[in-house]
Amino acid sequence: MPKYLNNKYFFINQEIPLQSSQNPSIKYIYPSHLGIVFIGKISTSILTKLDFYINKIFNSFFYEILFIGECEIPSDLYESEIRKEHNLLKQTSKEVILQPTNKLYNIIRNLMKKHNFNIGLGLTDLPIYSSSDKSLLFLFGESNINDRCAIVSTHNLIPQLNEESGYNLKFSSRIIKEVIHEIGHIIISLEHCLTTDCVMRFSQNLEEIDNKSANLCEKCQSKLNEVRRKNNF
Ligand SMILES: [Zn+2]
Ligand SMILES: [Zn+2]
Repeated sequence: MPKYLNNKYFFINQEIPLQSSQNPSIKYIYPSHLGIVFIGKISTSILTKLDFYINKIFNSFFYEILFIGECEIPSDLYESEIRKEHNLLKQTSKEVILQPTNKLYNIIRNLMKKHNFNIGLGLTDLPIYSSSDKSLLFLFGESNINDRCAIVSTHNLIPQLNEESGYNLKFSSRIIKEVIHEIGHIIISLEHCLTTDCVMRFSQNLEEIDNKSANLCEKCQSKLNEVRRKNNF
């Protein structure tokens, strides 16, 4: 669908660190309004935790964090630009359908416009691949800096069934870390942090997500404080 082959948007994915001078996020837009959108089937029980952690880490950056809706990809758009791939992480022989991040950003952007939110976060249970780099499959998340929205896919964050102890805790903790990470890209920097347990560290696999904390390290915290200072609050 040509509607989604929209090259005027500049997409940044997790894998490409850019110079901080290229960071467009330092503008006078904070404090801001954050809207959360579910695309697919996500349990709303995660919302209270997300609200708590987003407020804790990005303290006073958001006037409000609102859940602005649940939706599905419209059936006439479902097939467009999909990819069918084997999920190597889950080691199943069955191919799964991956949706391009552009398609999800479009849905989030439309809802942001409708509800007047300047930052949008989408959560989906669908597997996703990057529209800006088609070799990036089964992404945990991606940010679209120019449009100030991000998407986190829970598909590959689900713990294995044999990880019985703390299944829910582990699952929600991974979602929280990825959400904080993507919002961090929008607010602080496109760069990844090298500090071991910093939430802005790039995670290539679940183990790396589990090994980092949901918090910003001192260096990233000072970047956040700098954005706060530049926005005069
Ligand atoms: Zn990242
Ligand atoms: Zn850091």
